[in-house]
Amino acid sequence: AERLLVQAEKLAVVGRLAASIAHEINNPLEAVTNLLYLVEVTDERAQRMAFLKSAQQELDRVAKITTQTLRFHRESTNKKAVFLQDIVDNVITLLAGRLRNAGLTVEKDFATRGEIVGREGDLRQVFVNLINNAVDACRPGGRIVVRLRDSVDLSSQQKGVRITLCDSGTGMSRPVLQRLFEPFFTTKGMTGTGLGLWISKEILDQHGATLRVRSSTADANHGTVFSMFFPTG
Ligand code: ADP
Repeated sequence: AERLLVQAEKLAVVGRLAASIAHEINNPLEAVTNLLYLVEVTDERAQRMAFLKSAQQELDRVAKITTQTLRFHRESTNKKAVFLQDIVDNVITLLAGRLRNAGLTVEKDFATRGEIVGREGDLRQVFVNLINNAVDACRPGGRIVVRLRDSVDLSSQQKGVRITLCDSGTGMSRPVLQRLFEPFFTTKGMTGTGLGLWISKEILDQHGATLRVRSSTADANHGTVFSMFFPTG
């Protein structure tokens, strides 16, 4: 009976999500339809190019939403032994260009390789999302620190690996903190999708990992800390 209830809850979530995805995709598609009409009826070439450019931007947004949502929930790939250190190293390399352009430094403080059982592609997605958010929040000269430790969870006394990601960014206000895991909640306007943290939380849940967030808008040197605990054994 409990399983059925969980299933029903999941279906309800998926239904609500499908409705909001449809809504989020419909708006840009409607805009594209209007822009294409404008292209059709406009003679001036520069003006037509401007409409086409806007249409392109709207379609980029649709693509972002679909790739972000469809990437997950294929639980088909098996979990295997992975090292969080390798995954994080890999993601930092992947984002090196963006970090450099933003004028940020990354400090790695790894006291363990962080062996856990998980899905590498999904975990990579989590760190891409978290580090991209940290970059968005930081000003040039800012800093991101990634810390990796073998640890014991205080409340459950379980052994595991703790990974924390600290940024020196703007931090979050209380109303943002209360909503940041909601799908489509974003403070970034057109450039955000509001799916990154929602998906990251889902992936962490699938790994039995817990996630805590501490954030302050008061202290210029400490923006936000995301702390994740992966139980092992
Ligand atoms: P998106 O990045 O597309 O907005 P997310 O789900 O990844 O979507 O994040 C939701 C919101 O949470 C962001 O718009 C931002 O306001 C806030 N946020 C997330 N990470 C950070 C961070 N490290 N520092 C400050 N704000 C953050």
